[in-house]
Amino acid sequence: MLLSCICMYLTFLASTVHAWGNDGHQIIAQIAQTRLSSTAQKRITDILGGSNMSSVATWADSVRKTPEWSWSAPLHFINVPDGDCSFSYTRDCKKDFCVAGAILNFTKQMTSSMMNSTDSDIDNEMTTLKVAASDAAKFVIHFVGDIHQPLHTAWKGDRGGNDDVVTLGAWDNYCTRYPPVNLHHVWDNCMINAYENKFGTPYETQWVKYAAELNSKITTTQAKKWASTYSGKTSVETWANEGVGYACSSAYKNTDNQYIDSKGSTTDNALKTDYYTSRLKIVELRLSQAGVRLATLLNKILV
Ligand SMILES: [Zn+2]
Repeated sequence: MLLSCICMYLTFLASTVHAWGNDGHQIIAQIAQTRLSSTAQKRITDILGGSNMSSVATWADSVRKTPEWSWSAPLHFINVPDGDCSFSYTRDCKKDFCVAGAILNFTKQMTSSMMNSTDSDIDNEMTTLKVAASDAAKFVIHFVGDIHQPLHTAWKGDRGGNDDVVTLGAWDNYCTRYPPVNLHHVWDNCMINAYENKFGTPYETQWVKYAAELNSKITTTQAKKWASTYSGKTSVETWANEGVGYACSSAYKNTDNQYIDSKGSTTDNALKTDYYTSRLKIVELRLSQAGVRLATLLNKILV
């Protein structure tokens, strides 16, 4: 029994290393779903075999540890050189093999399979990674989320904050119970879970309330500014550049302006309440932007 509990815990840890946690992905998908045109709504439901978007939003994380899908693991993020705060497609997404390239590739696969086109329509370097339209859709839903997590376009040396052990202040209500806590996990899960605590039980549906709250706060002006249109490569480059910008300015830096990193002092790596309150605003911005942009992308291609 104890052994099976430990195994389940390790599986849980392994599945959360490189992604917004389940709640983040479900929130993004839910915001997007409410912003689809009626045509896009119908098409995506057909492609997903009747499932709604939030129920498939974490599929890409659950399969990437399996032998069949292990090739997809590097598609969840982008490594940029240590200390750099910009994304260069040519430098950081060789052969389209990063989250930006994956969005382009699977968006294309969704569209071409719907139009009954041939494989030759997929002209980028990822041709060998052709998947079914439903799997392509699940990847797009997930990866538009991942590219908005600032530490998914981040430094290679600390694996996007995965190697930076941190301590959390009184704001945390969960993560500290399972040390060591790393910076990447704080951005994937801990801040979202801490805020969601206010919604009480049942815990399983807290994300639904958080999604509704964030969605209701998005103004028309913001939605227009974030995603007037989806334009393929230019869009994913913008999203990744914004992400690494926030990684540099807010994720990697503590509120005293010192870097949190794998060599950081105990003081530099202590994330107190002022870190949580100021950075949660960025987490919320990125969840909202991802939801709006995912909807815009789907509205454009599912016509
Ligand atoms: Zn992911």
